[in-house]
Amino acid sequence: MNVATTLAEFRELRTQLAGSVGFVPTMGYLHEGHLSLARLARSSCESVVASIFVNPTQFAPTEDLSSYPRNLEQDLELLEKEAVDVVLAPSNNDEFYPPGYDTWVDVGGITQRLEGASRPTHFRGVATIVAKLFNIVRPQRAFFGQKDAQQAIVIQRMIRDLNFDVELVLGPTVREPDGLAMSSRNAYLSKEERPAAKVLHRCLNLVESLYADGERSAETLRQAMLEVLQAESLAQPDYVSVVALDTLEELEMIDGKALVSLAVRFGSTRLIDNTVLPPGQSLF
Ligand code: AMP
Repeated sequence: MNVATTLAEFRELRTQLAGSVGFVPTMGYLHEGHLSLARLARSSCESVVASIFVNPTQFAPTEDLSSYPRNLEQDLELLEKEAVDVVLAPSNNDEFYPPGYDTWVDVGGITQRLEGASRPTHFRGVATIVAKLFNIVRPQRAFFGQKDAQQAIVIQRMIRDLNFDVELVLGPTVREPDGLAMSSRNAYLSKEERPAAKVLHRCLNLVESLYADGERSAETLRQAMLEVLQAESLAQPDYVSVVALDTLEELEMIDGKALVSLAVRFGSTRLIDNTVLPPGQSLF
């Protein structure tokens, strides 16, 4: 496995990659969720590139950029085991964002809802870094996790609208045995908060079972999630949502596919999770 810490090094390594290139962008501190995407890429592409870059422009000034967990050495060991060919792990942010940087990819309305309502500049940062990475890596396929469903929807829209010649492949959310979606941010949870965080998955399970029993009122499903969250004293809901997949606008009644998602704070840690209705349907 080759590791490039500069774009010049990466460009040289890129010329040596044969056939279809699968790309797994990450912010590092890797877990099974990331590794499942690397495996998916390995099984369907001739060459696999992963990136590790904690992208500053997707964090608001009040967010956890400086404390975001990092462990490059361990990440590289894990990626090597997945037979990744090249890792792009830039050591200098200026290569992406030189002084005076002011060019942005704004995907519009869908970036203002859900996560975007709570984190207004987040998706501008995400779309911009992913567009840059697509230009640098030039992959045929790019692998994203359903864990960040809105992110995948935004990137899919960007691919379409900016005519990127990249196929987005979505991997399922990988969970801990107790149902908590794996996330680098789970490392922030205290001993007391960690068991409380199971409540996100409980909310989604409840929504799925209400839906299976015939419930189609989105408001009833949102209220059901809020009630479960209110019973967990360490959980502070940020939002609960049941939206249409194409517009991400809140639904009244569910009559097609819907995205159910929630964001919940435990102290200073903010976790997200989601599911698609009808259960078992994919986002795209
Ligand atoms: P991140 O490092 O958090 O930016 O995530 C990098 C990629 O891994 C994104 O496409 C995420 O959606 C995906 N990912 C993160 N957590 C999970 C998970 N638990 N299951 C599946 N994919 C995940």
